[in-house]
Amino acid sequence: MLNPVPLLIDGEFRQSATTEWLEVTNPATNEVIASLPCARDEEMQQAVASAAEAFQTWKHVALPERARLMLRYQHLLKEHHDSLAQTLSQETGKTLADAKGDVWRGIEVVEQAANIASNMMGEMVENVATDIDTYSMIQPLGVCCGITPFNFPAMIPLWMFPLAIAAGNTFVLKPSEQVPLTSMRLAELFAQAGAPKGVLQIVHGRKAQVDFLLQHPEIKTISFVGSVKVAQYIYQQGTQHFKRVQAFAGAKNHMVVMPDANKDQVINNLVGASVGAAGQRCMAISVAVLVGGAKAWLPELKAAMSRVQPGAWNDSNAAYGPLISPQAKERVHRLIQEGIDQGAVCELDGRHCQVAGLPNGNWVGPTLFSGVNTEMSIYREEIFGPVLVCLEADSLEEAIELINRNPYGNGTSIFTANGAAARKFQHEIQVGQVGINVPIPVPLPFFSFTGWRGSFYGDLHAYGKQAVRFFTETKTVTARWFDDDIPSGPNLTINLR
Ligand code: NAD
Repeated sequence: MLNPVPLLIDGEFRQSATTEWLEVTNPATNEVIASLPCARDEEMQQAVASAAEAFQTWKHVALPERARLMLRYQHLLKEHHDSLAQTLSQETGKTLADAKGDVWRGIEVVEQAANIASNMMGEMVENVATDIDTYSMIQPLGVCCGITPFNFPAMIPLWMFPLAIAAGNTFVLKPSEQVPLTSMRLAELFAQAGAPKGVLQIVHGRKAQVDFLLQHPEIKTISFVGSVKVAQYIYQQGTQHFKRVQAFAGAKNHMVVMPDANKDQVINNLVGASVGAAGQRCMAISVAVLVGGAKAWLPELKAAMSRVQPGAWNDSNAAYGPLISPQAKERVHRLIQEGIDQGAVCELDGRHCQVAGLPNGNWVGPTLFSGVNTEMSIYREEIFGPVLVCLEADSLEEAIELINRNPYGNGTSIFTANGAAARKFQHEIQVGQVGINVPIPVPLPFFSFTGWRGSFYGDLHAYGKQAVRFFTETKTVTARWFDDDIPSGPNLTINLR
């Protein structure tokens, strides 16, 4: 067995006894780099039981002590930033610079977790009735769990377990089976930072292991990030088993280009936001809506896109890496063909892309469509590849209406020099994260990651104050301390004062 990935159960990195193994590959070569166990039921049970036991101690640890664990963890993550990014590049194919960004966005959430105390403050009102005070406190829930996708192997696990654990919970993580190695390094560093045994567990697998977590009575919350169908399934199953669920799903993010915008800024940002990370970002811009005269910029956009090319993670000239798997590449090829068959104009076709020295990688070159309408599958489906589709609109109102009709609501942006247009857009658009001359408006962790509509199932979003609410329960206490001279005898009515 090549490089078997361990489970993390009860504080021990241990080999699974399973007979079911998956291959982890390097997407630039499709060579197998590790073997991944699908955890057996007994192993899943041990992980959850150990997390439940650890909770009984961890919830009593003083809040500043829990915060200090996160400070030490943040320090270690920064110290190992480069090596984490290398591991991440190897299993995702991301360029080293992009992989470092992935780790960095996770480190920022750990910084927020180190500041947990200010988000754990309750409220108090004195004298709600004579000599009676009411105050609320925030308490952890128990065992929380996270199920993560392939495309941000550092950032997305770090959206979840540091805040949950800082709030006093324990955590079971099931990373993507395609990119488990970064999660294991994150867990090793967490242990090195002093995380007590059992506070974080890692299990591996696919649907069967996820189903186990969805049904287990000890698990109180499910945090999921991934594709739409699975997000819907997780939300339905999780809530059916009376768990609190936040499920972040797929997207189709539009950039509105107004004719008064700065053309060079538009073109540079469109190229980067659509093909960066091979388009495998939930906040990638996959649709450009060219308003009025902005449609004349298409030839320059095409020229700029044709100048960027994918390549190996350690090639400093590479704009982005390969797709995650041959299946992902085939799916993108199929959608490009459907776009052509359905009548869109394929201005740039990335299907025949080759990278010197890496003939087996899952490469797709930058792909650009014009003449697209809302009925075409390249508009309706999340492509998750380096493909940008362009639609046209006569006015800002038409562009807003188009975006609001799309079922997704993760991110959107407008490029304009007109403040009134920008303000109208931010006010009327039915999308949870809006950029104004910013193509990928991912909020920093003191805000929350607020996808809407078909891109999110649940109520409370990732990181920020909302995540602390998600990982905690509010308890309200009403208290009276009797003076000796208080009149005695039963009180049989509801007090009005
Ligand atoms: P995916 O849905 O295939 O997998 C996500 C997780 O779900 C993995 O851990 C996987 O093992 C598990 N899973 C897969 N099939 C399952 C099933 N049938 N039942 C139970 N669990 C199952 O997603 P992916 O391909 O790894 O990630 C890409 C998707 O994630 C894209 O759609 C992207 O938009 C989305 N995404 C969304 C956000 C966001 O914040 N909205 C962020 C990143 C990625």
